[in-house]
Amino acid sequence: MFTEFKDTSLLKFIDYFDSDQVCLNYLAKYKHSKEYECKKCGHRHFWPGKKMGRVCKSCRYSESVTANTLFHKLKFNLRKAFYILFEMSTTSKSVSSIVMAQKYEITQKTAWLFMSKVRRAMSSSGQFSLTGQCEVDELLSGGKRKGKTGRGAANKEKVAVVIEKQGKTGVKRMYALRIANFSTEQLGRLFSKHISPEAEITTDLWSGYKPLKKVYKITSQKSDPGENFNLIHRCIQQLKGWLRGIHHSVSGKHLQGYLDEYCYRFNRHSSKDTAFDSLVQRMIMHPPVPKKMLDQLYCLST
Ligand SMILES: [Zn+2]
Repeated sequence: MFTEFKDTSLLKFIDYFDSDQVCLNYLAKYKHSKEYECKKCGHRHFWPGKKMGRVCKSCRYSESVTANTLFHKLKFNLRKAFYILFEMSTTSKSVSSIVMAQKYEITQKTAWLFMSKVRRAMSSSGQFSLTGQCEVDELLSGGKRKGKTGRGAANKEKVAVVIEKQGKTGVKRMYALRIANFSTEQLGRLFSKHISPEAEITTDLWSGYKPLKKVYKITSQKSDPGENFNLIHRCIQQLKGWLRGIHHSVSGKHLQGYLDEYCYRFNRHSSKDTAFDSLVQRMIMHPPVPKKMLDQLYCLST
């Protein structure tokens, strides 16, 4: 009988996922939860295929459990993939692809490619906009580069961040979006993707936010270190620390993936037990990402 794995205990995880077959059954359960429709011809009837796959009764197209998902063409066994998913979703910081490669006896490039796919699955759909008390601010990433500091800094990656507060001292959810600059148009991308017009938003006095007041309820406040924006500043410091600590030199083209990974875990801090199971489901529902696309992004330093 199928039971969803909802726990953060590594020992329980090891006991549950003790073979590739168990992992395959787990994936098949989610893959086959949708009504069957042949990917090639749209026919709705199938024969059971090898390894829990399905074969179209009309065109005989054989679809494996992992085909057309982010597990497509997986280079190592499923059990290792499940362990990586467990680490990336339930540990507080996860690890770099270098460490992951050593732990699971795969090459660093293979680890990196798979983890990049996982980050795609972790990316927010933007369907559940923040509606409560929010704060928005920005950060610059890539501290080693010389140049001006503050919003005018060149050659640094720019990120817009929003948090939704919970009570006076808690943070319910957080999203971060890589932006090209601090213009209204670019900041507006964060708002339209993650913030509802109903939300009550506080920002600092940056002029880029002003035109957004036509659509959003924004209160501007002078930023006074130690006095206000403490929560969002703390969230930003933690995010920056994580980026620096685990992924020494995250270049621009990779940055959004790391931001998505960080926010995925952050937003599940109070429901860690379901983080793994929901990540598996996202991996199964997500179309494959062509290797060519990821190869272009591959970077040894991460
Ligand atoms: Zn078919």
